[in-house]
Amino acid sequence: MHQMTLAEIARGLADKKFSSEELTKVLLARITQLDPQLNSFISLTEELALEQAKAADARRANGESGALLGAPIAHKDLFCTQGIRTSCGSKMLDNFKAPYDATVVSKLAAAGTVTLGKTNMDEFAMGSANESSWYGAVKNPWNLEHVPGGSSGGSAAAVAARLLPAATATDTGGSIRQPAAFTNLTGLKPTYGRVSRWGMIAYASSLDQGGPLARTAEDCAILLQGMAGFDPNDSTSIDEPVPDYAAGLNGSLQGLRIGVPKEYFGAGLDPRIADLIQNSIQELQKLGAVIKEISLPNMQHAIPAYYVIAPAEASSNLSRFDGVRFGHRCEDPKNLEDLYKRSRGEGFGAEVQRRIMVGAYALSAGYYDAYYLKAQKIRRLVKNDFMAAFNEVDIILGPTTPNPAWKLGAKNSDPVAAYLEDVYTITANLAGLPGLSMPAGFVDGLPVGVQLLAPYFQEGRLLNVAHQYQLNTDWHTRTPTGF
Ligand code: GLN
Repeated sequence: MHQMTLAEIARGLADKKFSSEELTKVLLARITQLDPQLNSFISLTEELALEQAKAADARRANGESGALLGAPIAHKDLFCTQGIRTSCGSKMLDNFKAPYDATVVSKLAAAGTVTLGKTNMDEFAMGSANESSWYGAVKNPWNLEHVPGGSSGGSAAAVAARLLPAATATDTGGSIRQPAAFTNLTGLKPTYGRVSRWGMIAYASSLDQGGPLARTAEDCAILLQGMAGFDPNDSTSIDEPVPDYAAGLNGSLQGLRIGVPKEYFGAGLDPRIADLIQNSIQELQKLGAVIKEISLPNMQHAIPAYYVIAPAEASSNLSRFDGVRFGHRCEDPKNLEDLYKRSRGEGFGAEVQRRIMVGAYALSAGYYDAYYLKAQKIRRLVKNDFMAAFNEVDIILGPTTPNPAWKLGAKNSDPVAAYLEDVYTITANLAGLPGLSMPAGFVDGLPVGVQLLAPYFQEGRLLNVAHQYQLNTDWHTRTPTGF
């Protein structure tokens, strides 16, 4: 039962082959049995899940239908869930029970999803390995000595290990696509403004975007359908109609123009990944796509720009966690300054503190023009590169990551080495574009992802291409041994 995709679950429920309650019980038992190896959950919500499953079964019995009605999922632990701990992977919010549901959570609940729990993540979504969580590192089900990617590593590990069919995640610089690549999943970062950020604890507000992590493009389409749409509570949410993503999956790829940026195949890329990307290009050519070499000349400046902008926004967003308005409060403060210092010093981990300091420095008088303003100018150049490219091609294709998942601890002493691994994903966030990662093969038994990028609001095109690719390949069906 645990091998089923969301699409298969929807058919099974519609055909009365099993109930949502039965399925929920099977998955909860599986999580209890197997998750101790992975640490992919911060909280399990058994009671809520069984309640929601029974309610979904009752709705179906009353003649209601819907692809998500009775579908078990989990939420990354930065989506606020009313009355349930929403920790953001931090000691700072270990005892925070959100007073309301994020829009994504309430929309999915209304569609009938069953929440099995809240998934582990890098603290405040800062990281690419899921090692900075206060609740401990998450392990990659493909090799328990390797990281699952981050920051949505809990969602990715849980879905890859078949503990559940799909989960929500967020992507500020790659945190949906990179863990998808590291765990053999399909993950979609939507256009900035497509999915409401209301109730999603902010890391870098101009870059953050929620999206689905699942095993197939078809399942990403189903989950995105329940997440996307205008929300008056989010001033950056965009009032564009949401297409029927599932209905668009079967479009032909005949004549599809795919741009392959020459800068993507430079020195830092593992040559074995380069070969797998070439194979996926050939696969898409067989389906009728036309390949064109393109250039994204400012890509080399994207990492330094991102690692100024994201920490700058984080330093501002995280100022509210001061032991007074929100978050952990230290014992017996001597005075106000002591309260702030010790509460923040105790509540935030090392990576979060590093980013707050970098961000506050970049925004300070005298350095603002040199760092923050400069980074914003680079951001515009990165976007302009994409706009020029999309005049010539329909999608852009390349590797999701330069290397497969590294060993736990391998990059802990060198944060910059980890930042450099974001080279292919962060440009989409700087430009606000949608991006998808899908399975493309294996290197040393570890999964590799191919990334597709599209113009604004063309999530449907990404899902269509990925679905056609998945109808003709079987990488996405491989299951990690032991799960
Ligand atoms: N690895 C990037 C960072 O650490 C991206 C994280 C994310 O997308 N949330 O900032």
